[in-house]
Amino acid sequence: MARYTGPVCRLCRREAVKLYLKGERCFGPKCPVEKGAGPPGGRSLMRRKPTEYALQLREKQKARRVYGVLERQFRRYYHKATRARGVTGEYLLQLLERRLDNVVYRLGLASSRREARQLVRHGHFLVNGRAVNIPSYLVEEGDVVAVHPRSRTSPRLKGLLEAAATRNVPAWLELSLQQAQGRVLRFPEREEIDIPVEERMIIERYSR
Ligand code: SF4
Repeated sequence: MARYTGPVCRLCRREAVKLYLKGERCFGPKCPVEKGAGPPGGRSLMRRKPTEYALQLREKQKARRVYGVLERQFRRYYHKATRARGVTGEYLLQLLERRLDNVVYRLGLASSRREARQLVRHGHFLVNGRAVNIPSYLVEEGDVVAVHPRSRTSPRLKGLLEAAATRNVPAWLELSLQQAQGRVLRFPEREEIDIPVEERMIIERYSR
């Protein structure tokens, strides 16, 4: 299945919740969800009481859409999570948070995960001094994610670094604007992952 390239606000409207897919616009009054826009296609989709299966599907779709992950890849994360010790749902979210594009976004070096993915693909980042252009690359504790020295003078990256100074960085990451780099101090706890998803329902769906 190809990656979704249509209007992203439509995805939030479908889930009836803000998924923060569009950067700065998501925090302004122009956000369609803020304005009370209903699901695409009208209210007809909401007429019937959703089944348990439908609710589980929606939770899974929400998580996929937040992180911009395709079904096959998402299923791989699930299988990896089932092999780990601890709570499968929490480990699943932790895996998604460890994606390089997400870490760039969480460090405030991009206004959305979408933008972060594009920056990573275009080779603007190093991990531990080596160029990595794979958005799904999973960071480890202690990894250093830095803006490529070649990119530090580009107007786009300069602007993003300036904007990063105004954003909050979660406690599991550390940002050094002077060095244009961030460090993964540890993996995030569930309460530090602020996405509107019930991971338990995702696990239930896959384990049917
Ligand atoms: Fe669009 Fe962002 Fe609002 Fe979602 S949260 S509807 S992506 S503006």
